[in-house]
Amino acid sequence: MRCLGIETSCDETAVAVVHGTRLLGQKLASQADLHALFGGVVPEIASREHLRLIHPLTQALFKETGLTAADIDVVAVSRGPGLLGSLLVGLGYAKGFSLAAGKPLVGVDHCLAHLLAASLETDLEFPALGLLVSGGHTQIYILRSPVDFEILGRTLDDAAGEAFDKVAKLVNLPYPGGQYIDRLAMSAEPDPKLFPKPYLDNQNLDFSFSGLKTAVATRVAANPHLRLDRMSGTSQIEANAELAVMLASFNLAVAETLRIKLQRALNRVGKVRSVIVAGGVAANTLVRQFMTEMALENGVNLRMPSPWLCTDNAAMVASAGLQIYCRGFVHDQRLEAVPRGKAVPRDYIQLSRSL
Ligand code: ATP
Ligand code: MG
Ligand code: FE
Repeated sequence: MRCLGIETSCDETAVAVVHGTRLLGQKLASQADLHALFGGVVPEIASREHLRLIHPLTQALFKETGLTAADIDVVAVSRGPGLLGSLLVGLGYAKGFSLAAGKPLVGVDHCLAHLLAASLETDLEFPALGLLVSGGHTQIYILRSPVDFEILGRTLDDAAGEAFDKVAKLVNLPYPGGQYIDRLAMSAEPDPKLFPKPYLDNQNLDFSFSGLKTAVATRVAANPHLRLDRMSGTSQIEANAELAVMLASFNLAVAETLRIKLQRALNRVGKVRSVIVAGGVAANTLVRQFMTEMALENGVNLRMPSPWLCTDNAAMVASAGLQIYCRGFVHDQRLEAVPRGKAVPRDYIQLSRSL
């Protein structure tokens, strides 16, 4: 069965077709360079870019794969959480496609799509413990199946990716800064005493990264030489070894916190058949290393998508949509977008049978 996936929840416009667990093709246009001029995503610009790009990208995808609308069995669209105006572009396009081609529509929870992305590369065994670490979310899940899950813990303030991006901005690294911090952190020895591991002195599975971000801000304010000249890109980095140490120490504090809370969750839920780590921050080198070590120590299967599948893409949306559809769930033209901060309703329409 072939599923067309559409992703417009933030600043990536992306379309993809998957056939079962095989990716037949994808097109992705990142608007990161455009938003970098403003140091963050400008919602109005994002929506306009999605509107400009969504149709030509889909046409290019069909041309490249040699497929036509008739070859598509189901249309999946990222319905949120995300930027409302951006989501509406994808939703409108998906609904139009569904109506014109007479194909069923599935609205996909963007966070769930991140977690299920690994199924394009390997089997996902359930029950699974899931850690979603992205630009807008840091959440621990227990997933009994692709459509049956609960959130066990979440961030009380900044998401891990948001902390990376804000820290990067503090030192004038380009937006989005996670990948630059990752690269610089790997070039230096972290100082574990520089920053505390945030929000561990409790029994819960929640996160808080704003204190850590403030600790970095305070340090930078007291040491202005830690800030790069504006718009200097990454060229001066090697000259600034102290900055690299600070970023490595920040990176370590985040990665250790994620590892400790996920281990706590694993101890608490008991036996699971896999541990999934996904979302943009799962592309981080140290996070990947720590998660791999943790999985080995616990003898549990780690399912961590390749870095390109960790950040926003439409392949994960198509894959999740297909998994939902195959269990007999769809939406119709009443499907609504869900803005950031709102819970995604489980408002599927159940078909009379699984497919
Ligand atoms: P959400 O999925 O919560 O709505 P989003 O879609 O904006 O948010 P993603 O696309 O999953 O988030 O991930 C983007 C985030 O991941 C950004 O904050 C980015 O800085 C961060 N990121 C990407 N690569 C890395 C890396 N190598 N190290 C650390 N952070 C990274
Ligand atoms: Mg993005
Ligand atoms: Fe995302």
